Amino acid sequence: MVETQLLPRGISDRKTLEAFRNVPREFFVTDAYRDAAYEDRPLPLLCGQTISQPYMVAIMTQVLKLPEDKKALVLEIGTGSGYQAAILAYMGHSVVSVERLPELVEFARNNLENLDFCGDVKIFQGDGSSGWPECAPYDAILVTAAAPDIPAPLIEQLKQGGRLTIPCGGKDMQTLKTLTKTDNGQLEIKEELLCRFVPLIGKHAFPEGD
Ligand code: SAH
Repeated sequence: MVETQLLPRGISDRKTLEAFRNVPREFFVTDAYRDAAYEDRPLPLLCGQTISQPYMVAIMTQVLKLPEDKKALVLEIGTGSGYQAAILAYMGHSVVSVERLPELVEFARNNLENLDFCGDVKIFQGDGSSGWPECAPYDAILVTAAAPDIPAPLIEQLKQGGRLTIPCGGKDMQTLKTLTKTDNGQLEIKEELLCRFVPLIGKHAFPEGD
């Protein structure tokens, strides 16, 4: 996976690559997809949700430019399988992850349970389009579901100097955006690539049942 999917597409961050070499992706898929765990595509989970393609997880991790020698506090919206949270935890960061569907909260907690480096991952059930103010502010935020726009509460909960990455656009196709809150509080937004995520459903995203 690292040699054929990540390195040739420009993933070069040392700690990101190390995490992909060591976090067992087969722990985060359902039984039916165990043999397909390392394939170059997203895979179905429960409740119509998906575990993202390895390259998408890698690019979203890399663009956050997390410190190599310091523990960062990272907010993830859309826990899904827990794989992205495990990658961040392996890199030595504290993770707060919010998931809307109780079935997936349980699935992710079970997946993480047997990995000793995941002690610093907290999973909460709720609407992450409002962020998770109880643990804010965050050094970095990543949203692994598609939103029409960057939810304002997430920008508020980001520290100065912090980065946020999120797929923004329609339900069928999005642009992965990275926002940096500069040290003087300015917002800089960069567009990374086209992508396709399941929708972020909530108060500051797509309405339910739309
Ligand atoms: N990061 C995941 C993939 C997530 S798929 C992984 O590594 O496996 C997107 C997830 O976002 C789904 O599980 C979906 O239920 C969740 N989601 C959608 N809207 C949400 C919201 N408002 N708050 C929290 N989670 C949400």
